[in-house]
Amino acid sequence: MNDFTTLYGRPPLVTVSAPGRVNLIGEHTDYNGGFVLPVPLPQMTTVDLTPRQDDRVIVQTVARDGTVQQCEYRLAEETRQGDWSDYVQGVTSLVRASGYRLQGFEARIESSVPMGSGLSSSAALEVALLRALREGFGLELDDLTIAKLGQQVENQFVGANVGIMDQVASSIGKPDMALFLDTRDLTWRHIPIPAAIELTVIHSGVTHSNVGGHYSQRRAQCTEACQRLGISELRELTAADLHRIDSLPDPLNRRARHVITENDRVLAMVAAMERNDAPTMGRLCHESHRSMRDDFETTVPEVDLLVDLLRFEPSVFGARMTGGGFGGSVVALAERGRGHLVAKKVMRRYAEQSGRQPVLILPQ
Ligand code: ADP
Ligand code: MG
Repeated sequence: MNDFTTLYGRPPLVTVSAPGRVNLIGEHTDYNGGFVLPVPLPQMTTVDLTPRQDDRVIVQTVARDGTVQQCEYRLAEETRQGDWSDYVQGVTSLVRASGYRLQGFEARIESSVPMGSGLSSSAALEVALLRALREGFGLELDDLTIAKLGQQVENQFVGANVGIMDQVASSIGKPDMALFLDTRDLTWRHIPIPAAIELTVIHSGVTHSNVGGHYSQRRAQCTEACQRLGISELRELTAADLHRIDSLPDPLNRRARHVITENDRVLAMVAAMERNDAPTMGRLCHESHRSMRDDFETTVPEVDLLVDLLRFEPSVFGARMTGGGFGGSVVALAERGRGHLVAKKVMRRYAEQSGRQPVLILPQ
């Protein structure tokens, strides 16, 4: 029997899923009007849902380790709690604020996306729940609107000042395709992964939070750099304008340099993918990682170690941290068919040297 049925005494009306994502390149560019290149993961968040006749919302979430948590509230009484229920309450609060009619519901969430690992469990949850509400209540929501609502949930309810990459990747991305997204005008193109490459993703075992702290500080530094440069977003500058950042004090100059050069690397990555140029793709990964480590300062020693162990493997074209940083996961471009073997070898050495427990995300 479906667990939802055991829990609520009736079967779910809708069952929908949304994926996590791994970002190939383009980090911290999405709140600067820049380019990103995420790939949806096979790991998903699934929501079972049945509407109620009243305005009560009851939601259970089952963690990967089997732990169950529940939240319960009434529509229009959503209140920030500072825990996972904010993602659920934020969704119903913003859906109603956008003019859609909701009733109460019972829901059960299950996910294979690890949380706080740079693989976007939060967007997977938002998009899955929004899809469930769309189906359950017949809401006229297109996929891009779902992505925008998900971002608003993080920005306005949860208190995570994130850009829109994760939600668009989860809502619009296609399996095994990179989503080349321009976050300034929200246009996109699906780019195939070259056949020579097997995406290999390892979680470092160090988790992060996007609420407050370092993430917001980086975003504020980008805003300050723009104000001092007299521009509205860093996207306006390209490699040809790099001399302009010399006028900025440290670390604003380095923060701006990361974003400007990272945008260029996304464009170069797309071009390399389109001509099946795996060595150039690998080099771009290294340059991106170096930029995140030295200029944007979003890596931690464990993640740097994992990237170094991977990049010196002969069957790996390149490796970099993926996601917002301060922990999280690493993506490597392995030769097709070699990903599993090389990941296992590197994970063993990483565990010995760091004392952390890495988790293999891809290949599955
Ligand atoms: P990431 O999105 O990289 O995994 P975030 O800090 O943005 O990291 O989001 C992680 C948070 O999202 C978790 O701490 C939890 O509050 C919430 N979350 C994500 N997935 C679930 C889920 N399946 N059930 C409950 N809460 C979840
Ligand atoms: Mg997130």
